[in-house]
Amino acid sequence: MKTLKSLEALTTPLLEIQRINSAAALLSWDQETYMPAGGGEARAEQISTLQGIAHQKLISPDIEKLLVNWVDLETGELRDNPGDTWDEPARSLLREVWRDFSRAKKLPSDFVVRLSRECSLAQQVWAEAKDNHAFSQFLPNLRTVLSLKQQEAEYLGYRESPYNALLDVYEPGSTIAALRPLFVQIKGRLVPLLKKIQQSPVKIDDTMLFHTFDQARQLEFGRLVLIAMGYDFERGRLDLSAHPFTTSFHPTDVRVTTRVHEHDLQSCLFSCIHEGGHGLYDQGLDPRYFGTPLGDSVSLGFHESQSRMWENCVGRSRAFWRFFYPMLQATFHHQLRGLDGEQFYAAINRVKPSLIRVEADELTYNLHIMLRFEIEQDLIEGRTRAEDLPGIWNRKMEEYLGIVPSNDAEGVLQDVHWSLGAFGYFPTYTLGNLYSVQFYEQAKLEIPHLEDEIAAGQLMVLQRWLGQKIHRWGRMFTPDHLTRRVTGKSLDPEPFLSYVEKKYGEIYKL
Ligand code: ZN
Repeated sequence: MKTLKSLEALTTPLLEIQRINSAAALLSWDQETYMPAGGGEARAEQISTLQGIAHQKLISPDIEKLLVNWVDLETGELRDNPGDTWDEPARSLLREVWRDFSRAKKLPSDFVVRLSRECSLAQQVWAEAKDNHAFSQFLPNLRTVLSLKQQEAEYLGYRESPYNALLDVYEPGSTIAALRPLFVQIKGRLVPLLKKIQQSPVKIDDTMLFHTFDQARQLEFGRLVLIAMGYDFERGRLDLSAHPFTTSFHPTDVRVTTRVHEHDLQSCLFSCIHEGGHGLYDQGLDPRYFGTPLGDSVSLGFHESQSRMWENCVGRSRAFWRFFYPMLQATFHHQLRGLDGEQFYAAINRVKPSLIRVEADELTYNLHIMLRFEIEQDLIEGRTRAEDLPGIWNRKMEEYLGIVPSNDAEGVLQDVHWSLGAFGYFPTYTLGNLYSVQFYEQAKLEIPHLEDEIAAGQLMVLQRWLGQKIHRWGRMFTPDHLTRRVTGKSLDPEPFLSYVEKKYGEIYKL
């Protein structure tokens, strides 16, 4: 039986590549947290140089020569060499290295460097344009990035739509044909539910969340929740950035960021919990596999399922606040005086169509994603021109959510993704929502009295379960295989839909 040990000649250069990628990730983390604004252009060059080196190393003749011994490079099938029987980790490793290699091989190195540099620059221009509420300022960069991504799809090859080539990067195996019916099904249940909520006599007052809250105390509380979740500060940090994110250089150094608004209690709190969910995944990857695909998360949809489960299934539950609300009240006794846990629970679960995706409630959130999914397809397929985006955006907002942004910053410029070239990323957010509830329902079946544990502040029972079932496996299994291993079936939107119908039916007395 051949094992990972037999593949050392392959895993050694992969480890070097991972170290280069980690260094690039650290430069990006610094760009978002501490880098002075003037450093932007030089930083773009530094990151794109490292990414170019990593890319060249991955597609090097040495790796190709090794891989071709064991894998048919055309199909990815393992060769039937006499005497070669592989154990599961070795087989998975070859499957996933082939996936990365064959994709990288299709992209010329100078294209990879150019894409990286243009995205890094576009991101900085986007941030300024957003501050100035001026889409036109970002338009030239967006056009460049868009045409590079269309070019990338051509290099990668695709069936039916170039958008499929980009989707597959973030969520292996996902296609428009698979996503569209899923979105139709969700929309068919969420839109009527939203209507009923809007007609409900129950009106939730959430003004308690918008008093003045000391920023240092908010951060302190976020840190306390992260510790309770099992996020390890010996192997992590919490910093501030304009847009909260999680990044990892190794399972022993996984960093999360948050933002704090003095007049909004939810922003820091829920971004800490959300990013903490991502952070637990990265801290839970098996360090023995670091540098190989087995030491990497299985997909972005899975990653998002971890953050959304903590943020919504746990962080917006009664059980969670039974334990944490008295502490929150003690931290902000002046602002929350006389307001009970039930009022707080209702306030953080208020459903209201809003302009900003990251601030959306868990029900309308998916409508924000559908809008982006449609726009992205049209852009990549060339049906929509970049300059028409603000108008299209606003029309779709009106159609889906019944509200229209008053400027581009709260409309088409709100997300960083397109400046980064991350077309095809958004659908993974909705997949994450669906996976999150499917996994959480399974956790409730398998962990005795899970909600009682949560109500007693014992969050680590869930962290341990997720670690065992999901985190430690990395990319050992495909997303679909892992979903079936964890829950006994493939991705199913029903648990999510039943969960929101039950939860909001109760809150809004439908
Ligand atoms: Zn996330």
